[in-house]
Formats: sequence, C-alpha cells, structure tokens
Amino acid sequence: MSGRLDIAGLGPGDPRLWTAEVTEVLAHATEVVGYIPYVARVPDRAGLTKHASDNRVELDRATHALQMAAEGRWVVVVSSGDPGVFAMAAAVFEAVEAGPAAFRDLEINVLPGITAMLAASASAGAILGHDFCAINLSDNLKPWALIEKRLRLAIEADFACAFYNPRSKARPEGFGRALDLMQALCEPTRLITFARAVSTPDEALTTVTLGEATPEMADMRTVVLLGSSLTRRVVRNGKAPLVYTPRSVPE
Ligand code: SAH
Repeated sequence: MSGRLDIAGLGPGDPRLWTAEVTEVLAHATEVVGYIPYVARVPDRAGLTKHASDNRVELDRATHALQMAAEGRWVVVVSSGDPGVFAMAAAVFEAVEAGPAAFRDLEINVLPGITAMLAASASAGAILGHDFCAINLSDNLKPWALIEKRLRLAIEADFACAFYNPRSKARPEGFGRALDLMQALCEPTRLITFARAVSTPDEALTTVTLGEATPEMADMRTVVLLGSSLTRRVVRNGKAPLVYTPRSVPE
C-alpha cells in the first residue's frame, strides 16, 4: 500500500467552515498529526490515530508525518485556518526537501482552509475589499527590523493590513512597537479592528480608531486588521457597525 499525506486547513474554529474536501479526507485517513488544540478539533473515530504535539516542533512533526506516510499510512497534518498561511504546509515541504528520496515519491496534497483574516474581515464587514497585505508579527522566524520595514512600506502603499501572531506571552512588547509605528505613520482616525477567536464561542470584535488603540487589545488569539486610508464604518441602530474598504480608489 502506498502512503498519502494531506496537509489540511481546519479554518478559524467552527467546523461548519471546514471544506467538504477536508471533512472527506478526515473520514478516511488513518493518522492525524498537529498541534494539540488543532488535533483536538478532529472528532475521534475507530481507525484514526491522533498524534498531537507542541507547537514549537514543526519540523519534527512534519518529518514524523512524512515517515508514517512513507510506511504506507494515510496521514493528515492539520493546521488552523489555511495550512499554507504561516502554518504547516511550508514546514512539510522543507522536510521533503531535506529528507530521504522516498519522501518525494509520496502523494502529497494541500487542502486549503479559511484563513483567520478572511473570517475576521467577513465578521467585521469587508475590510479586505480592496488591495491588502498580510504580515506575521512574530519575530521567531525573522528579524524584527524586517517586520518594521514591511509594516512601514505597506502603510506607505496604503494597503489594508492583516497582522497575524500580534502578541504572545513570550513576546509581550512586539505589538506595542508595531502599534507605535502605525500611530506615527497613519492619521489618528484610521480604523483598526481587533478580531479575537473568530467563529468560536469566544469571538469578540472591536473596531476603534488608531488613536484609541492600545497593545492590550490584541493577544495570540487575535488577528488585527488595519484599514487603509479609505476604510470606513457604517453605523447602524442596535446593530454592529459595518466596517468596509471601498472597491475603488479615486484618481
Ligand atoms: N494558518 C492560520 C494562521 C496561523 S498563525 C490561518 O490561516 O489562520 C496563528 C495566528 O492566526 C494567531 O496568532 C492569530 O493571529 C490568527 N488566528 C488564528 N485563528 C484565529 C481566529 N479564530 N480568530 C482570530 N485570529 C486567529
């Protein structure tokens, strides 16, 4: 029997946001591999073995998954959101590149999922309705100077921006520095949305102006959406405002 490896996105939280393709693959695989809370989202089933591991060992996890597939098993590596966005797909391909030739013979599929920024933009309205960029604010895998440079240039180009991994217990000060930079470069009325735990029972959405924003508004379960200079808010009686970026930019 030849093995197979699927790298699947579980979306932002609610299982109804899994694609039909992901549901189908998880109904047939023999092994599921991933970070503890993501593996916990997959329902238990006879014939499915769960391999949950700590988040910091991505390359080990990828190699383990490839080894099991090379032994003939059907392995699914799960990520939250989309597996290609700051997640496991690239880690698996690094392991394929560095690993034995047998890894290159495997059937490997990447199954996309709804990434956090899309779910957050949808909950708030349509913040990513015009050009945008996504930046991971964690400096675990790149120097802080590069994050600042990308942030500065994205603001100069007037993109709406989605910031992943804004803040963690290990990096409490990074988001404060990023916010200082945004406040220095943008007008104080610029809108910023803190979208926490979108599509889970803990979902909380807060839209404020940059002048009102504080670092404590973000944590590791938050994706932060900074509007462009054209992003605006439609206020409604008794209902959440609609935050959106118009589709066109005047000449
Ligand atoms: N592959 C994931 C991103 C992993 S990086 C994806 O495509 O969504 C982890 C970061 O994603 C978190 O720090 C947070 O910024 C964001 N994130 C993931 N799930 C989220 C959710 N349900 N609500 C808000 N942000 C989320």
